[in-house]
Amino acid sequence: MKGRDDAFKEYLKKVQSIEDDQCWICGKTPDVIKAEFYERMKDPPEGMEHLTIDDILIMTYKTKHPLCASCYFTIKQNPGLIREVLEKPDNEIW
Ligand SMILES: [Zn+2]
Repeated sequence: MKGRDDAFKEYLKKVQSIEDDQCWICGKTPDVIKAEFYERMKDPPEGMEHLTIDDILIMTYKTKHPLCASCYFTIKQNPGLIREVLEKPDNEIW
């Protein structure tokens, strides 16, 4: 059990030292998101061949902490899940 507690404390330290230009949820930086886009577009999904980096949303800074578009839309589209995470006691989730 001790090992797991230490690992969790180590993890928390990393999460709390998150940089400003980084998604507050998944920790991706704009550069990582752009790199993933270029990688994905080597074999684009059908109908998406015309997309360029300027067409995609990367990061919003209008929220309290920066959020990437992927996390933003995941949160936005899953209010029930978010409510469950917030309202359920920790020991019922883990
Ligand atoms: Zn994110």
